[in-house]
Amino acid sequence: MAGGGPSPRRQNRAASFTLDKSEPSMHELSLCESITQLVVERARRERIAKVSRVVVEIGVAAPVDAEALSFCFPIVAKDTAAAGAELAIVRVGLRARCESCGAEFAPDALFDPCPICGGFASTILSGREMRVVSFDGA
Ligand SMILES: [Zn+2]
Repeated sequence: MAGGGPSPRRQNRAASFTLDKSEPSMHELSLCESITQLVVERARRERIAKVSRVVVEIGVAAPVDAEALSFCFPIVAKDTAAAGAELAIVRVGLRARCESCGAEFAPDALFDPCPICGGFASTILSGREMRVVSFDGA
């Protein structure tokens, strides 16, 4: 007889789940909640009973997953005035202003140098933001 003794049997009946800290949809989920909250509140103020379309701008360098946002929105908007509304996402390109020569340019990536003087010190004017632009409804 190999081994011996009773093998410890543990039963864990408690339903448990782990939330990965890097779970990407958590971030987008809370963003969708903010978007929905904002739109629903504005809609109520403007006496719009049903929102049909929400337009959001997302900078290409914004830390937002547009696909995840599109996925989360209908789930979050369910049972609100924005239920079933289309989420239109407009991507906003990067715009920067060079601190050295003042030139405005469209970098391909953050921290691209100025195409005029080659300077690296620039202010990002757009491309990192996310905002609700407008919404339609009746
Ligand atoms: Zn420059």
